[in-house]
Amino acid sequence: MSRTIRTLDPTTGEPTATYEGWDADRVETAVARAHTASRTWALVPVAERAARAADLARSLREHKDHLASLAVAEMGKPVREAEGEVEKSAVTAEYYARQGPAILADERVEVDGAKAWVAYEPVGLVLAVMPWNFPVWQVMRFAVPSLVAGNGVLLKHASNVTGSALALQDLFVEAGFPEHLVTALVLADTDVPDTTARLIEDDRVAAVTLTGSNRAGAAVGAAAGRAAKKSVLELGGSDAFVVLDDADVEAAAAAAVKARFTNSGQSCVCAKRFVVAAPVADAFTAAFVAGVEALRLGDPRERHTQIGPLARDDLRAAIQRQVEDSLAAGARLLTGGKPVPGDGFFYRPTVLADTGPGMPAFDEETFGPLAALTVARDDDHAVRLADASSYGLGLSIWTADPDRGVALARRITSGAAFVNAVVASDPRLPFGGTKRSGYGRELAAAGIREFTNTRTYWVT
Ligand code: NAP
Repeated sequence: MSRTIRTLDPTTGEPTATYEGWDADRVETAVARAHTASRTWALVPVAERAARAADLARSLREHKDHLASLAVAEMGKPVREAEGEVEKSAVTAEYYARQGPAILADERVEVDGAKAWVAYEPVGLVLAVMPWNFPVWQVMRFAVPSLVAGNGVLLKHASNVTGSALALQDLFVEAGFPEHLVTALVLADTDVPDTTARLIEDDRVAAVTLTGSNRAGAAVGAAAGRAAKKSVLELGGSDAFVVLDDADVEAAAAAAVKARFTNSGQSCVCAKRFVVAAPVADAFTAAFVAGVEALRLGDPRERHTQIGPLARDDLRAAIQRQVEDSLAAGARLLTGGKPVPGDGFFYRPTVLADTGPGMPAFDEETFGPLAALTVARDDDHAVRLADASSYGLGLSIWTADPDRGVALARRITSGAAFVNAVVASDPRLPFGGTKRSGYGRELAAAGIREFTNTRTYWVT
């Protein structure tokens, strides 16, 4: 059976590299080493673990150009965004270097006749199944806090970013983390479901986290449930971007373009459904479509490019299907709506009007440059439309009255609510989903504690 992994440059469709996927023996050796490394690491004082995170921030910045160019070559992200992703990872490493020891410090609890405290101790080796859309950030967002918490990481990165996975593994070692503590597993896609399920069963693996599709999340969550192991799932999103009748329409439209088309539309927290109050719908739509048509699509290596190709051809085909089926169900095409002819996996930035429940562009996650507009009669209708999704990751509300925005947000289920701002992750604040967007949190104190053993001490 061939285990060859071939990565393609999405800008040209040409092959970039091949890797030999590991067989069961090689996986076993890697897991054994990673497990040993994680047991030793758990005994290292937290201050020292945090110091390595500070070193990692420096290494990330030193290798920013290389990591960014790898991301561009492997998944087609515009280079300026790729550089931003590396910088954000460095900022997050600095955050945990500074805050990690305090967040993980013992908490004294007053009890009668004993000394009691709560400790946050390492859980061991954690399997991390990661997606390609932010090849550096997704890994760092999980790995940095987990390492500062004293755990080891078995990284199963998406196969189309295998080069990035291996570069990151080297980076951890360069920053002073012990060898094998972060191990990138190179798995052919045919081996992925069975090998990950087996690893989740393995006594040496303490827990699992996955960022990716609901299909993969369901498989990993089920395996974790069978093994009675902790899991965190960061899955898809279909975030609503709600524009109320008193909003600054020009500002909201400019923000909406950014919110939908960052990373060429391939982000779980991209705004995907735009719910616009009837009195401002025409003005918002005109400004939004003008902003979308002004986006510069092209070679992601060029610094002025704002929209690159999609990461894979099958993802482009999925967007095309969602557009066609939504049009057949009554949506109206305002701009885009087709692939760009020629090399690479480019798709024209697309806006559909008159969307709603029953259409793929509204009901499903759209993971590419496709925006679905819908008009709300009043605030109650806006709440119903925004909440009419099986997903619940982020929410953005635009209004001249922030209190009205917060009050409306309370009536809609999501993991984050932003008023007059584009949804974005920040190391100081927890990030994660509700409903089918998953469970558990990354970042901030909640993120680092997800993979710790909250342990009670009672000493008399
Ligand atoms: P995906 O299949 O879920 O891939 C994410 C990760 O899960 C990859 O490492 C993948 O490995 C692995 N994986 C796939 N099937 C698995 C299984 N049965 N058991 C264990 N691991 C498994 O995502 P995709 O196909 O690349 O993208 C499709 C959809 O996923 C998108 O349309 C979007 O909805 C969603 N997505 C969401 C995010 C997010 O940040 N929330 C990110 C990316 C994708 P291989 O790469 O080796 O298959």
